[in-house]
Amino acid sequence: MLSYLEKCEHGSESTVWEQPEGYRNAETAMSFDKIEGFRRLLERLPVHHPKHAVIAEKLGKAEAGIRGEDWLVNKLEEVEPLAEFEVMAGVSLTVDETPFQMDCLVLAANCALLLESKNIRGRLSFDEKTGEFTREEDGIVTVMPNPVWQLKKNLRLLNEWLARHQFAVPIAGAVVMTSPKALLLNVPHNCRVIKLQQVPDTVLELLKAAPVKSAEGNPDRLSIALKAANQSFIHNRLCERFSIPFSDLRRGVYCPSCRTLSVKRDRRSWRCAKCGHADARLHEDAVHEYVSFTDEPLTNRRLREFWGLESRDVAYRVLKSLSSEKRNQNKNREYIVNIQHQNS
Ligand SMILES: [Zn+2]
Repeated sequence: MLSYLEKCEHGSESTVWEQPEGYRNAETAMSFDKIEGFRRLLERLPVHHPKHAVIAEKLGKAEAGIRGEDWLVNKLEEVEPLAEFEVMAGVSLTVDETPFQMDCLVLAANCALLLESKNIRGRLSFDEKTGEFTREEDGIVTVMPNPVWQLKKNLRLLNEWLARHQFAVPIAGAVVMTSPKALLLNVPHNCRVIKLQQVPDTVLELLKAAPVKSAEGNPDRLSIALKAANQSFIHNRLCERFSIPFSDLRRGVYCPSCRTLSVKRDRRSWRCAKCGHADARLHEDAVHEYVSFTDEPLTNRRLREFWGLESRDVAYRVLKSLSSEKRNQNKNREYIVNIQHQNS
């Protein structure tokens, strides 16, 4: 449940949703996940826009990453009959305001395993001396962020997080190269870098190598604490992040069903002119989308411009319909607006 403060100055154009205290938390909860944010931004960018190719590439990489993570989680199912553990995918935590995101955690009674998945194809080469990681594909060599560094950083931060929450749980980790089209060269000696097929053996080996039972070995307690602390990364303010002027975005209301800007307002609902999808509460999704793109205050006028709405009254009623509490009855009317967040 999220709160916004709408300040309405007596029917003027300055209807503004202001940020109440705690706005940053609300903002985090409102953000789309990375893929959904990129999809929507791409739909709103004209094809010839200079940033179209950049966002398309970002979306492609994010989708490939998620596919790789799914393959990893599926692979872990092969081990389930042989050992008792819980798998948590996409865990995001914070230590000293440093957020870190882990692809996959395996929680057993005696240890926790961190598996970072990378869905990269080509000839992948690690240089232990320089720490460089390169991919060669079709004769083109590209220097990429070294996944070993990412694993080590996340292991260090996870260790710190566990210590601060009084979990004496030994941890270990591995980088999992999930693409069947990856050829690993010069795999480092000081870190486990494995292919997807090696996951079952490696996990069993690591579980066996951990102490029989840790002093704090209560995977349920750890699992509950991790789930409570798990948080979405902020994937919003995409326009600012990619230096895209908000005015460059195509106008309209987005249809989550056919992924086009074809939704129109009829008397009682929002209805897609292309696929017929109807949803009386689609304005919540549309406000959610606005926040994903920019942190510019949402005014009645901006809302109408963004959605391509002509009626100021409809925009006003939409804003009002999201409010649950009024403050100041007369000139400076204010509303607390609550939006039920839905994970997308
Ligand atoms: Zn549609």
